[in-house]
Amino acid sequence: MTTPCPGCRTRLKEAGRYLCLACWSTLPVPTRRELGRRDRQAFARLRSLHTQLEAGVPLTQITVTTHG
Ligand SMILES: [Zn+2]
Repeated sequence: MTTPCPGCRTRLKEAGRYLCLACWSTLPVPTRRELGRRDRQAFARLRSLHTQLEAGVPLTQITVTTHG
């Protein structure tokens, strides 16, 4: 099953992925590393990503570092 990518809204992303490959590769490396971690904060980071996308933050400037 595929769904529209929340980053570009034009391409499809694979199930289990946050973004399509093109958008994913545009994110800063630290952001990709944070999003790739699977821990208690994983959902908070995903929510932060979506919030920034909806706010129009460029992919190259998105950070999802969480504290606590
Ligand atoms: Zn995309």
